[in-house]
Amino acid sequence: MSTRLDWIQEELIGLKDAGLYNTIRTMSSPQGAWLVVDGKRALNFCSNNYLGLANNPRMKKAAQEAIEKYGVGPGAVRTIAGTVELHKELERRIAAFKGVETAITFQSGFCANLATIPALVGKEDIIFSDELNHASIIDGARLSSARIVRFAHADASDLKKQIEANLGSYRRALVITDGVFSMDGDIAPLDEIYDVSNEYDIMLMVDDAHGEGVVGKGGRGIVDHFNLHGKVDVEIGTFSKAFGVVGGIVAGNAAIIEWLTQRGRPFLFSSATPAADVAACLAAIDLLEESTELVDRLWENGRYFKSEMKKLGFDTGVSTTPITPVILGEAALAHQFSRELYQQGVFATALGFPTVPKGKARIRVMLSAAHSREDLDQALQAFAAVGRKLNVIK
Ligand SMILES: *Cc1c(COP(=O)(O)O)cnc(C)c1O
Repeated sequence: MSTRLDWIQEELIGLKDAGLYNTIRTMSSPQGAWLVVDGKRALNFCSNNYLGLANNPRMKKAAQEAIEKYGVGPGAVRTIAGTVELHKELERRIAAFKGVETAITFQSGFCANLATIPALVGKEDIIFSDELNHASIIDGARLSSARIVRFAHADASDLKKQIEANLGSYRRALVITDGVFSMDGDIAPLDEIYDVSNEYDIMLMVDDAHGEGVVGKGGRGIVDHFNLHGKVDVEIGTFSKAFGVVGGIVAGNAAIIEWLTQRGRPFLFSSATPAADVAACLAAIDLLEESTELVDRLWENGRYFKSEMKKLGFDTGVSTTPITPVILGEAALAHQFSRELYQQGVFATALGFPTVPKGKARIRVMLSAAHSREDLDQALQAFAAVGRKLNVIK
């Protein structure tokens, strides 16, 4: 009997013992305010479908028409035979929407980070990275071989200190921060981070995956929110969250975007996004340009839910976006809370260490424009009942 793969079982048991094993639930409905989760209908507070666009009829129709015209598969990578008119149109439209010079699209936000960071910095260079940056930034940074220096979360003065401590030790430097941090729903102080980066003439990149379609005028993103147009060199975004489809965005300085068509490895070596998805993204931009109604409703839902939860006595942390963490303390309590909610027909995930710091385990409530007031009231009742049962609130 071979034993060379035994370590995997041991690792898996270790994860289960530590309560860190991911149990994967299965959906059998479209995304929306409600989901069928493992066969049970439940109110959905787990998706990044902020604007409720993932099952939007106009977007579905656009995707169907693109399938009729282009078929289902891209056939090639973007640089060989995989680019269709729709890709070019999407890049023009998203750049115009966000008010940047140019944009390039990738298969996902994860790919966009893996493409961009190694294209901008290498072995002789340095990356200053917020300590809570997303996994795809961390992986992109490691892939670049640049030296990685972390700065304290959302702290521009610590960034300055780290830059000062490393002056003269590198060829090029890149500052990277998430725009909206998805665990706490807080926003990076991008204006202050820009001032510091600019003072030292360092490249600045922001990953706005959770801000795209959410923050800024009508969802135009964090650069718009801080009115830093033309100042932030490169902005990463995703079509997979608020836009309700799939795909990554890199927007900003024209030279960087052109460089990525030559050196962005997922662009060169992984097949293009299918035309149907691209067409759906274009229809999403149409919707966002026509009206701010969905973005407004998302924020209104966030305000309502947060203020009602505070009235009930819950700790909703430091969020300034519709992401609403409900901080409970120990991971075991958060997991039990999540299970009890699910019994009551509310689907909301528990997050514990190492995703969030020890003692800060929480339920993360992802609000959406798709939720009606009745949906929110029903969820509030469930939170109140479970909170009292588990002695979290009085
Ligand atoms: C979700 C997320 C990504 C990945 O985006 P996908 O399009 O889902 O691959 C990248 N960065 C951040 C900050 C994210 O939150």
